[in-house]
Amino acid sequence: MKTLVERLASITSAQSITTDPALLNTLSWDALSEGRVHPLRSIDINSPACAVFPGSVNEVRRIVLLANELKISIIPYGGGSGLMGAALSVKPGIVLDLRRMNQTIEIDIEARSARVQAGIVLEALEQRLNEQNFILGHDPWTLPVATVGGAISTNSVGYRAGVYGSMGEQVLGLEAVMANGEILRKRAVPRSSTGPDLRLLLVGGEGCFGIVTEATLRIFPKPEKRVLRALFFESFESGFDAIQKLFAAGLQPALLDFGDDDEKNEQGAVLYLGFEGAVEIVAAEDRLATDVLLRNGGKHLPTVEAETFWHNRHAIARRFLANRSQRRNLGRDGIYRDWIHVALPASKVLAFRRAAMVIIEQHGVDLHESGLWIQPELFSMRLGIEDHGENQAQMALQQTVDELLGLAQDMSGSMEYTHGVGVKLAPFMSKEHGYGLEVMSSIKKMLDPNNIMNPGKMGLPS
Ligand SMILES: Cc1cc2nc3c(=O)[nH]c(=O)nc-3n(C[C@H](O)[C@H](O)[C@H](O)COP(=O)(O)OP(=O)(O)OC[C@H]3O[C@@H](n4cnc5c(N)ncnc54)[C@H](O)[C@@H]3O)c2cc1C
Repeated sequence: MKTLVERLASITSAQSITTDPALLNTLSWDALSEGRVHPLRSIDINSPACAVFPGSVNEVRRIVLLANELKISIIPYGGGSGLMGAALSVKPGIVLDLRRMNQTIEIDIEARSARVQAGIVLEALEQRLNEQNFILGHDPWTLPVATVGGAISTNSVGYRAGVYGSMGEQVLGLEAVMANGEILRKRAVPRSSTGPDLRLLLVGGEGCFGIVTEATLRIFPKPEKRVLRALFFESFESGFDAIQKLFAAGLQPALLDFGDDDEKNEQGAVLYLGFEGAVEIVAAEDRLATDVLLRNGGKHLPTVEAETFWHNRHAIARRFLANRSQRRNLGRDGIYRDWIHVALPASKVLAFRRAAMVIIEQHGVDLHESGLWIQPELFSMRLGIEDHGENQAQMALQQTVDELLGLAQDMSGSMEYTHGVGVKLAPFMSKEHGYGLEVMSSIKKMLDPNNIMNPGKMGLPS
């Protein structure tokens, strides 16, 4: 242990390493709360040996080489806001916290791109871009917490993904220290036809293949205008049908958040819709969308409802920042909550929802909301169950989630479209990818023969 810390200090500095148990405890977890873990799949959480805060790609590289020599694992760490346990310390290793690498290297207005270090928090980058009349198209709930590296590694999706895409889709170029210590650089160009796209080892790779140290991201002019609308529908089905017609008409909203939240409305469902961009285009989109939605059962709610929704969209993340440990214990108050975010062909969403409701009822679980985010194919359900003392509530909820994920896969869907896999969804990766998981494992073995890079995640060998 002493040797490890001393050798790390010779690479960075003694101030850039911690063995403080309280800090290590925080860094051994992300935002996967205990109540969302299947009781029969208890996760081994270990205190990291230490955490290190590197300041440059060269330091990251030397740390990776050292970890290979000592055969100790590395867990890359960004904002620690991942919901699937991808940043959990399942083995006592080195937590590599990238938040000291938080510089904006260049904002190239003409190229409409920003070159940044991976540890920059999304909101800090957004603010810098806003000063130059640009925005980062990626706008998740966790804008104030998540880092560019973490968002790339989970291929995260945000509120404006309808027009700007996922975080991965904004990556033009990147630099990464791979598990064997080699540096991979992808040229920052919008397209390239020179073989398989190696960015995809890192986009959604959850730090299992390498550590993103730098990225060049596509950025967008600050919208001239934004129009927000709130509409009420009598039922989830009627709203879904209207949204399908919206897309069939060729409209692609920047914001689409639709759901039948039982806390907000006893009946019916609410759609928050937004268009942004050039004034005249937004006016035309708004007019066309309103026409389609009103003709298909939508009723206007006061615009202020949509504006409040937009204004408060990062509030949960600020609460998370203020009290992480409370989040970890969620489910320990006797009320268990979980959700699914599946991607399905739009033609199967309503059939999935009907079949899912039968499963949910069979397990005695409460369905709090069915929803769509961004586009009709991206479907979610929020579930909950109270523990009345029999202690079976957590089991019933997790059994339900398992069955719903399997159902989505059986119906040609994907079990998750935004939060990644981590440890929570690892058991379903074989069904999700079939032979593809073997391909991933072989690449992992080749790049990471000592299996040091974030082992035990994504269904890859632990
Ligand atoms: C309240 C709340 C709301 C959320 N809302 C959204 C949302 O709207 N949309 C969404 O997509 N997600 C959402 N999430 C999930 C989470 O915010 C995202 O997954 C986020 O992208 C993770 O970024 P992070 O920096 O916190 O990464 P971390 O949690 O620190 O890490 C995530 C994964 O990336 C790896 N990693 C981190 N940095 C690097 C790096 N530089 N190189 C290689 N690997 C790295 C880690 O090892 C881990 O596997 C939410 C979470 C919470 C708690």
